Amino acid sequence: MKTVGLIGGMSWESTALYYQLFNQGIRERLGGLHSARILLASVDFHEIEAMQQQGLWEEAGIVLADLGRRLEQAGADFLLLCTNTMHKVAPQIESALSIPFLHLADATAQVVEERRYQRVGLLGTSFTMEEEFYCGRLTAKALDVLVPGQSRRQEVNRIIFEELCCGQVVEESRKTYLQAIDDLAAQGAQAVILGCTEIGMLVKSEQSSLPLVDTTLVHVEAGIELMLSS
Ligand code: GLU
Repeated sequence: MKTVGLIGGMSWESTALYYQLFNQGIRERLGGLHSARILLASVDFHEIEAMQQQGLWEEAGIVLADLGRRLEQAGADFLLLCTNTMHKVAPQIESALSIPFLHLADATAQVVEERRYQRVGLLGTSFTMEEEFYCGRLTAKALDVLVPGQSRRQEVNRIIFEELCCGQVVEESRKTYLQAIDDLAAQGAQAVILGCTEIGMLVKSEQSSLPLVDTTLVHVEAGIELMLSS
């Protein structure tokens, strides 16, 4: 089994899911007392979120690239960054590494293609929904990406930072997300990408009017495959 390096803590609520899902997946496949070989570097999200707000992406990239390098030195065979948003600085991290970096948007695009969706909705932070670094990676694969309107995007973003990243799952916010999914369905989306690693805490497939592609699940599945590949 290969060792995965995780750069997490953004927020730790979803990094805890990565840890659990990796271990569950390895137990399902290998049985008995098998568990996942994981090296984890977990940041203080307060500091990273402040950098996001101030537009200090270069500086945030330096912090995360340094952690990636340290995970590689500690023996990680490949690396995952446990947040969609911070993939904005993925090029900086990748260029600091000589081990593979499993890009979350690429793993997601692959699943979307496998499931034969052509037109997908995207929910995530404002950075993820509005900027090229994420949507561009999907549209490059000839996928149509739809996002909610401005005021809904703001609310979707607020719920991520003020509630989900603080471990709060609020019923009213679930309704907001389900309404956003209904609106995306009305615009022609065939499925919705949960493009933020905490959204799965709030919205489950069985509640949704459209099939969901949960990026946390997708990322871990792709990671487990790589972990067990020769
Ligand atoms: N975990 C989130 C994501 O997947 C949001 C937190 C962040 O800004 O990194 O985008």
